[in-house]
Amino acid sequence: MPAYDRFPIKLGLTPKVEKAKKPIKQRSEKRVKEQKEYVKIVKEMLAENPNCDIREDGCQTVATGLHHVKKRSPATWLDKRWLKRACDNCNSWVELHPLEAIKKGHSVSKHLPIQVTVIDPELKAVIVEQI
Ligand SMILES: [Zn+2]
Repeated sequence: MPAYDRFPIKLGLTPKVEKAKKPIKQRSEKRVKEQKEYVKIVKEMLAENPNCDIREDGCQTVATGLHHVKKRSPATWLDKRWLKRACDNCNSWVELHPLEAIKKGHSVSKHLPIQVTVIDPELKAVIVEQI
């Protein structure tokens, strides 16, 4: 196409031909494969044992999904060592009580170890607690 043919388009004299919009993928192919693998792991673990592993106040006893002991990341979300069977109630409980969940072993901080330093005025001592 000679260069002078493009001038009317640049000047806005001819209607611009719009290209068909291609939607952006919601998930990459890699992510779709991982999601299928995750669903398979959930089905396997719940088939092995359908009971909730967390058992906090209001537990519904029957697990409906998996709780990620270590927050979901590409390195940990398919690793069975970091998954626990959980009912909806217990899964919510863990999210609402993060420190208690760490103390009870339901969650592991990504930033381990955490040390809490408290100065006790009566004992005149520094207490270092590792969570
Ligand atoms: Zn439960």
